[in-house]
Amino acid sequence: AKSKARGSYRLFHPDMQRADEAGRRLRAELSGALTRGEFALAFQPIVQLASQRIVGVEALLRWHHPERGLILPAEFIPVAEESGQIASLGAWVLGTACKAARHWPEDVKISVNVSPRQFELGDIRLVVGDALAAAGLPASRLKLEVTESVLLSQNASSIHVLQDLREQGVILVLDDFGTGYSSLSYLDTFKVDIVKVDKSFISRIRAPGDRQPIFEAIMGMTAALNLPVTAEGVETRVQLDYVTRLGCEWAQGYYFARPVSEYELRRRLQGFSRA
Ligand code: C2E
Ligand code: CA
Ligand code: CA
Ligand code: CA
Repeated sequence: AKSKARGSYRLFHPDMQRADEAGRRLRAELSGALTRGEFALAFQPIVQLASQRIVGVEALLRWHHPERGLILPAEFIPVAEESGQIASLGAWVLGTACKAARHWPEDVKISVNVSPRQFELGDIRLVVGDALAAAGLPASRLKLEVTESVLLSQNASSIHVLQDLREQGVILVLDDFGTGYSSLSYLDTFKVDIVKVDKSFISRIRAPGDRQPIFEAIMGMTAALNLPVTAEGVETRVQLDYVTRLGCEWAQGYYFARPVSEYELRRRLQGFSRA
């Protein structure tokens, strides 16, 4: 029976039951999707602003569902994290991304997103080591993109594991920067190689002369720490000019290229300085 009290009514809201059912169905479908070959990677170029060349590529996971079509990571990654399926899915992403990168010019690095849960579910050093070895790729070609939730997690060993990987030559990127606590003190103690400023700051730049004070503060802080910055979500010329003027080293976004297939990416890497 439905209570009239607001709080309890919300607890039994039918939408929530639906969401729960949808989650359960997604989880069940996920378990076979990997072996059925329903996952693919999309690749988005990262451009060095000074040279206007593609110097990196981010691997972005896509699920091609037989009935529902394309499902984006925002919908299924949280489910895979909760169920633990992110461990096998994440290993597949690392292996597949590294294998793709073997066909690219040597100065083009591959960026892979890693979920905090992957640090809890096993030793990611082994997963990364296997992926690199299977592809014959040196560690210095691989960038791991982690969010600050990894650094803030109770799991203190994940920081140790990341530093180990860094010592082996893997490049660490702090993703979605500016959306969480983004404290200066942990940037000082926890060594990352690159900071990636969240696209929400860039999307608010619409007209020439528009400014984002927090973004500018981040640029001051990272400059003081000698940390190079990638701007993500650059869609317009105005945004490109802004992030260039602020001193970002690299940019990524629809202005240059949308995430594309492995085939299309290789075509773009051949002789095109700008995607
Ligand atoms: P992210 O790592 O911050 O990735 C950037 C997202 O912005 C991607 O969305 C990308 O397609 C989108 N994007 C790129 N350029 C532009 C632009 O100019 N404008 C706009 N509006 N969007 C742009 P996507 O592919 O849907 O991925 C969403 C999130 O899912 C990622 O955010 C990442 O957190 C997660 N994700 C994706 N692939 C993986 C994966 O293999 N493993 C894990 N653990 N997470 C992943
Ligand atoms: Ca990312
Ligand atoms: Ca991001
Ligand atoms: Ca994000």
